[in-house]
Amino acid sequence: MGKFASNMSVALFGGTFNPVHFGHLNLANSLADYLQIQSVRMIPCAIPAHRAVPTVSAEHRLAMLNMAIADNPSLIADDLELKRARTSYSIDTVELIRQDIGPQVPLFFCLGMDALQSIDSWHRWTELLNFCHLVVCSRPNYPLPSDGVVTTWLERHLCDDITQIKKQPQGCIHLCKIPLLDISSTAIRDSIKCAKNIDHMTPESVVNYIKQHSLYE
Ligand code: ATP
Ligand code: MG
Repeated sequence: MGKFASNMSVALFGGTFNPVHFGHLNLANSLADYLQIQSVRMIPCAIPAHRAVPTVSAEHRLAMLNMAIADNPSLIADDLELKRARTSYSIDTVELIRQDIGPQVPLFFCLGMDALQSIDSWHRWTELLNFCHLVVCSRPNYPLPSDGVVTTWLERHLCDDITQIKKQPQGCIHLCKIPLLDISSTAIRDSIKCAKNIDHMTPESVVNYIKQHSLYE
């Protein structure tokens, strides 16, 4: 069966991946298990909407991602946003993938709690659920929003039962308690600037690539 066989659910995990680290990889792997899905598509963004354009090029970020997942059949690097020469809006990505997979296939867009907290600043954020489910993973130091528009929206769409969710193509928000590692790309970039070791944060191939290309110095 092909990676994107039409009767299967699809899971997306977007990020800057500047650089990719064990937190991302651990989460994406756990999501594949949790959702009982063959593969998770990791989508590096080209031009983030809410932060400065990464100092490290999209080509380098994609190359590191490809190395990090090389021996991992559950993870796929998808350069769909990199091919788009404009701001990488998640709504455009889920809309495009929905067109591709058809109306019936469950589509999961996975993100960390840090990203959920500011989701109301995303372009056309309330429309996301017209195309996909959201799977939100807790992250150390980022609590669930407890007031404001995001909380109201969350309460309206929260679904606990993943088996039920998988029977629908889109429209639910699911909170999952996959234990996450306290690692961030910021910590990696900061460590490199202070000449600290990053071996415990990202795979050896990525560490070597960073050294070889003198990235983040
Ligand atoms: P930066 O420090 O540059 O913001 P980051 O480590 O937060 O980098 P991103 O590329 O910004 O990584 O995040 C991509 C996605 O991965 C987001 O949905 C974020 O919530 C999630 N994520 C990032 N780090 C982790 C982690 N350690 N565990 C789980 N999810 C994470
Ligand atoms: Mg981040």
